Amino acid sequence: MAFEGLTERLQNAMTKLRRKGKISETDLKEVMREIRLALLEADVNFTVVKEFVKVVRERAIGSEVLDSLTSSQQIVKIVNEELTKVMGETAVPLNKSPKIPTIIMMVGLQGAGKTTTAGKLALKLKKEENARPLMIAADVYRPAAIDQLQVLGRDLEIPVFELGTKVNPVEIVRQGLAQAAENKNDYIIIDTAGRLQIDENLMDELAQIKALAAPNEILLTVDSMTGQSAVDVAKGFNEQLDVTGIVLTKLDGDTRGGAALSIRSVTGKPIKFIGQGEKMTDLDVFYPDRMASRILG
Ligand code: GDP
Repeated sequence: MAFEGLTERLQNAMTKLRRKGKISETDLKEVMREIRLALLEADVNFTVVKEFVKVVRERAIGSEVLDSLTSSQQIVKIVNEELTKVMGETAVPLNKSPKIPTIIMMVGLQGAGKTTTAGKLALKLKKEENARPLMIAADVYRPAAIDQLQVLGRDLEIPVFELGTKVNPVEIVRQGLAQAAENKNDYIIIDTAGRLQIDENLMDELAQIKALAAPNEILLTVDSMTGQSAVDVAKGFNEQLDVTGIVLTKLDGDTRGGAALSIRSVTGKPIKFIGQGEKMTDLDVFYPDRMASRILG
């Protein structure tokens, strides 16, 4: 289960505090130490942890929780609020173009869930907005990525533009955009190529596609199971492409929480969606407050 260790440790720390009644400065120090360790163990970025603990401690002292009977509840409330803040405070909606089409470019490493998320997002738009998206298959490197998108498109009854694997991805996108204009599609979702890790060729290609398509949204898909490494990947992609949002996938797995809690602070970019399963309906808008409550259990 996601966040299992983190939730358990935070709950233990809070339960201990509740038993105290009055909270002394030593008690506060102790609970802050436990929170710090719980976050570090969950693979949260060190700087994020340091800042988080500092803010919670300052607020706890500032709100005079020491020696007060309700203080343990107040600390839980402060922790909840600060967890929410660190994940971005409020949900950030998809950027939309004032006139059609809205162009969404999916980027990310191989296996992060980019192609799956492209399908999920197209379905979400179709169902919720009655939209007519076109998906462009521009991942010519991963064997079967194009087939995978075509199968998804067929199942979801959403058109897929593809030119096989022999044509340059930038050219595929150019022709895909022309087709979308002809068909008056209101959304275009471009599935780009990933790699096993960030490399220059990949970034060059993505920069060219970005320059050509001028997307309203560049959604970076990262695998939440990979913790800090997901955060490093996000930092790298963001530096090169200035992404507009993040999709955190595989939150149905036993992710520890490091990616969810660090990525916003480290990149400055909002998590917009979360992937919570392999089914096409398993994509949800990301609400920082709900995630904080889920983490606290
Ligand atoms: P890509 O290489 O980034 O395009 O990755 P894929 O879309 O092919 O996804 C890689 C694997 O992750 C596939 O087996 C997907 O079914 C799986 N996957 C994607 N998103 C999720 C998710 O939110 N939860 C789970 N459990 N699996 C996911």
